Amino acid sequence: MISEILAEMTIRVGVIGAAGRMGATVCAAVVADKNLELVAAVDTASVGSVVNGITVSSELRALADAKVEVAVDFTVAAASRINLSWLAMHNIHAVVGTTGFTDQDIEDFKKLFSSSNCIVAPNFAIGAVLMMRFAEIAAPFFETAEIIEIHHDGKADSPSGTAISTAKRMAAASNTWAKDPTKHEAIAGARGAKGSGDIPIHAVRMRGVVANQEVVLGTQGQTLTIRHDTIDRASFMPGVVLACKKIAEHKGFTLGLDKFLGI
Ligand code: NAP
Repeated sequence: MISEILAEMTIRVGVIGAAGRMGATVCAAVVADKNLELVAAVDTASVGSVVNGITVSSELRALADAKVEVAVDFTVAAASRINLSWLAMHNIHAVVGTTGFTDQDIEDFKKLFSSSNCIVAPNFAIGAVLMMRFAEIAAPFFETAEIIEIHHDGKADSPSGTAISTAKRMAAASNTWAKDPTKHEAIAGARGAKGSGDIPIHAVRMRGVVANQEVVLGTQGQTLTIRHDTIDRASFMPGVVLACKKIAEHKGFTLGLDKFLGI
């Protein structure tokens, strides 16, 4: 009986960046889930317009007014820093897909969230979470590795949060990386940006794509390519919906969706 009542309980969700590409997709996913209820929408764009039956407000206060339990943030890092501080102060759980945060931001968020909880996931697509894990597992068996991330041409930050995070995890998993043999770069940047462990990251911005990433690892006589392709923003939604449902159980701050998936 109690489990039936719990199953029927709905979580009140607000979306920040609700008029954006990701935010609008999140609003639709929340509305489509029987255990989530969209009760507030905040954005600096399209203020006053109606998204899935909710009027877009420019004020974070709309989240408190609507008694939001979980706020989902898909904006830009500069805005998200302010939003997260406000959410922590108002004891609202935060599910954050925004990318472009620094290591210092992450340290700050860890201190911010004590009463309510927060997850920052650079990638909510389950396949991308697995790609990062597989790359981490493969890392100790190869001496050279490069990351190529390809995103739509509306993406503001580079390299992607997923690429930065992948390099960080691979670097932490191995300390036998070979030195870059390049002595002279005829065009600066030809070898890409250096991620953790000096793993090169190449960021491609292209019309016609959503988000793809390839991790290429090489050792004597063989290469291994791990590739993930996002062909639709819907790919991120099962992860976002799962995070909305599980955030109350994961105390404090969590980086990455892995723990919520149990991997
Ligand atoms: P987008 O279409 O530009 O949407 C961002 C929205 O946030 C815009 O409507 C923007 O309004 C709004 N915004 C900016 N500042 C705001 C503020 N202070 N308060 C409220 N709203 C604000 O971008 P997108 O493609 O949806 O991507 C959003 C973020 O999600 C990016 O950081 C992207 O890298 C990330 N992302 C993450 C994942 C993941 O799985 N974690 C997947 C895809 C994308 P204006 O137009 O007025 O600036």
